[in-house]
Amino acid sequence: MATGLRIKTAAELRTNYLRREMFPTIFCDGCGLGNVLNYTLWAIDEVGLDLDRTVFVSGIGCSSRLPGYINADGLHATHGRALAFASGIRAANPDLTVIVFTGDGDGAGIGGNHLLHTIRRNMDITVILVNNFTYGMTGGQSAPTTPDGGFSSTTPYGNIEHPLDICELAKALGAPYVARWPVVSPAQPVKSIAEGIRKRGFALIEMLTPCPTAYGRRNGLKEIEQIWRWYREHTVLLDEWEWVEQFGSPEEREALRGKMKIGVFQDTERETFEDRWAALVAREKL
Ligand code: SF4
Repeated sequence: MATGLRIKTAAELRTNYLRREMFPTIFCDGCGLGNVLNYTLWAIDEVGLDLDRTVFVSGIGCSSRLPGYINADGLHATHGRALAFASGIRAANPDLTVIVFTGDGDGAGIGGNHLLHTIRRNMDITVILVNNFTYGMTGGQSAPTTPDGGFSSTTPYGNIEHPLDICELAKALGAPYVARWPVVSPAQPVKSIAEGIRKRGFALIEMLTPCPTAYGRRNGLKEIEQIWRWYREHTVLLDEWEWVEQFGSPEEREALRGKMKIGVFQDTERETFEDRWAALVAREKL
């Protein structure tokens, strides 16, 4: 995909954006969170964000440690509540850019209600939601996103619950920008995170990210090569998915089972909470 992005070197990112004294990270070998951090920094650089006017917010979990590595203000909040804190920051100072790191357990499980209502309000917040199919840091329990049949510490015989499609939920709720990508290639995630930051209103970028320690080892996906191959074989671009659903043979449609759609699910405009608040203040002369 030609994106026009100039991918930065590790040295450039390290010098410009990282708190070097915080390294090495706490992440396990083979974890995809380092990729998510890199892609976010590339996107920030692409957008030209002023880090003095940017706040990173997170909840609890491995992905919620990410703000600690970035040389900007950060708020490490309580489990599932990152979006409540982020909303408060935006309401108090709408001049700040607010970026949230959360996980599937933190953001869509424990924080699922906050996700729903923050999208409904359409506050100008960019959410990078790391989906590794499990609660990684807290013990490898099943999450709302654990695949059908997936093994976890709480589903030792295989998950029997239907997994939540976070992007379809966000799209249905009217989020102006919604995308999902696996970490296995940088160009699309970097482009989407940059588009999400530029978007006025709520933007959700779901990153399919390997957790070899808590999820992978229980599901035959412990080695990096295996995991990355799994993501390539189990993700299908949205256009291709829709074509198969509409025109594909029964065998081709059956082959979509157990796979995930990737791409930009929604890219639209919608009046933001901040716009409506400003209009209310002007109207009522508050
Ligand atoms: Fe990454 Fe999983 Fe280790 Fe957490 S437990 S750092 S998500 S590999």
